[in-house]
Amino acid sequence: MTLARDEPPFGLTLPSDLFGDDAECVVLDYARRLADWAGTSDFPRSMSAVAEKLKHRVSSAPLPVGLRGVRVAQPRPLIVTSDEETSAAQERTVAHELFHPFVGVEHHNYTSGRGKLTSLQARAEMLCDIGAAELHVPAEEMQRQMRDAPAIRDVPRFAEYFGASLAATLRSMVAVTPFPIAGITFELRHKPTDRVPSATGQQVLWGSPSDCDSPRRLRVHDWSVSRGVNVRFNRHQHVDEGTSIHGAYVSGVETSGLDDLTSIGLPARRYRTESWPHRYKNSTRVLTLIWLA
Ligand SMILES: [Zn+2]
Repeated sequence: MTLARDEPPFGLTLPSDLFGDDAECVVLDYARRLADWAGTSDFPRSMSAVAEKLKHRVSSAPLPVGLRGVRVAQPRPLIVTSDEETSAAQERTVAHELFHPFVGVEHHNYTSGRGKLTSLQARAEMLCDIGAAELHVPAEEMQRQMRDAPAIRDVPRFAEYFGASLAATLRSMVAVTPFPIAGITFELRHKPTDRVPSATGQQVLWGSPSDCDSPRRLRVHDWSVSRGVNVRFNRHQHVDEGTSIHGAYVSGVETSGLDDLTSIGLPARRYRTESWPHRYKNSTRVLTLIWLA
């Protein structure tokens, strides 16, 4: 993207090593300055308005399954978001795309749609996500809104306040809390094999066997953990039917409980959980907070 002299990126440049903490700090700094420059003082912040201020056109269209958005730089920058997604999710995609020129690795440099991202591409995606989150749902404002411990029932309220999707809101709540917690959005589905049919592909991506006809279960759709927590989750993992998380799915109302979560990779003991189900398209998703200590 060609920038006029009086426009972003505010004299900021990323370090040549994108993998360090420095890179994240610069991206966060850029996000904050961008918000000030675009005059987004109120919430929810319009990411489309920021894009327009950066001389991008924004539109939505049917995109291939799994593709949330694309940015085309020529002849005039254009961001296209998937019209399959909610407007809140499309706003976040717009924010994500705005960070690509700054991070310096664009989608069209990726070798193929089916292949695995290189570690540099994956890192670029992560940096764009970090920047987009700070631009859309700034950590400081989330902290101010949340005040004390996160509660699952606050997710819809905060999502409306920030104009963010429920899953993105849960991630932001988890990111700013000092408590050791995980935030997971579960969805009832088969193992994520539909887009990667080969057994080798599945093994590479999820380390899971190729049981394509696996039953539909409440599986990890999206997850995050608070700072300092060294736990990872995988999208093929599911919660058992005896958990209060599954109970939220069945009953359609908020639940809390003490759950055995070995099936999603946690050590064997009981975890305090809070779950809240919501309708998403033709299915139900369950947002869950898990206290890890
Ligand atoms: Zn991207």
